[in-house]
Amino acid sequence: MYKTLQNLRSKAEQELISHIAMPRIGCGLDQLDWDKVKAMIKYVFKGSRIKIVIYSHQSYSPEEKLKILEEFHNGVLGGHQGISRTIKRIKMQHSWKGLKTDVTEFIKKCQSCQVNKASNHTVKQPMVITTTARAPFEKIFMDIVGQITTSYKNNSYILTIQDDLTKYSLAIPIPRHDANTIAKEFVEKFVCFHGAPKSIVGDQGSDFLSKVFTSCCKLLKIEKFHTTAYHPQADRALERSHRTLAEYLRHYVDKNLQDWDEYIPFAMFVYNTTPHSTTERQPYELLYGKPAEVPNSHSRTEEVRYNYDDYCYELKQRLQRAHDTARDTIVKKKEKSKALYDRNAKPTTVHVGDKVLTKWHAKKGKLSANW
Ligand SMILES: [Zn+2]
Repeated sequence: MYKTLQNLRSKAEQELISHIAMPRIGCGLDQLDWDKVKAMIKYVFKGSRIKIVIYSHQSYSPEEKLKILEEFHNGVLGGHQGISRTIKRIKMQHSWKGLKTDVTEFIKKCQSCQVNKASNHTVKQPMVITTTARAPFEKIFMDIVGQITTSYKNNSYILTIQDDLTKYSLAIPIPRHDANTIAKEFVEKFVCFHGAPKSIVGDQGSDFLSKVFTSCCKLLKIEKFHTTAYHPQADRALERSHRTLAEYLRHYVDKNLQDWDEYIPFAMFVYNTTPHSTTERQPYELLYGKPAEVPNSHSRTEEVRYNYDDYCYELKQRLQRAHDTARDTIVKKKEKSKALYDRNAKPTTVHVGDKVLTKWHAKKGKLSANW
């Protein structure tokens, strides 16, 4: 037992693992006296920076479970996300037997979700694999959402930015979408925090291509690309984040839809702290090197054992590894999803005179119900 724990520690340190989760039961430690095992773990991992989380399936009462489900799904920091995203998020801090079923049942019964969820139906075109960035904020996607109902603060659009590698996303409420506004917000809210990216991919149709923004990019030595109508997948991830954002806002905005910009920071926090389907990590974690603590009433306080001596070195190593893994995962997923996607792709043919159904993009405000 002692030997196993020692091996675990040296293995974890070799691999730069920062967190180890082990169950209190069902891990082969069962016949042992838990208090002795606990003391042994403490002894073996003394002075190490590895955080150990012991989870036990029995420590949640039905009321506690319900409370957790409510906080992680209904709350402003929950965001009424779908089943798998809600599960991923809860699992970062809690776990119990039947968690999946509980979440599924809970969300199926959620009134707000039934009214507000969008359908995920789009016309399919064969997919083109795009290049993947190697570092955060090397390549970003940029888009404008709107026009939406003018808020009390006079905003009618949202400038959205997503990092290609980490999927870290920003949403900036703006009053107009002219090039001056975009350039100003981009520099103040993005460049001043994260530095200038190497390249930006943006929507062809927007003011993104205008002279003002182009000269702004020239000044910052940023390469600018645009997505074309035939490469719609290029910013699919960003579009998915728009859907998440719009869905989030629909759940919380007031009846006249004018307070939507108050909720944007919370919506983005939820987005950035939920493991992303492409990288399988929190965007926040890939950017900052540690997962975000999501405030909730059942938070377990863990001992943080950092000393600052080689914190910087270790963080760098860990981030490098995390970015490599994220990039590999993205590349693999892109290939896999291309294969899957192309299998069902039916390039649509429309003839003059054909009757077609178009999606109602011009509905009043993106935040009103969908159908
Ligand atoms: Zn819901």
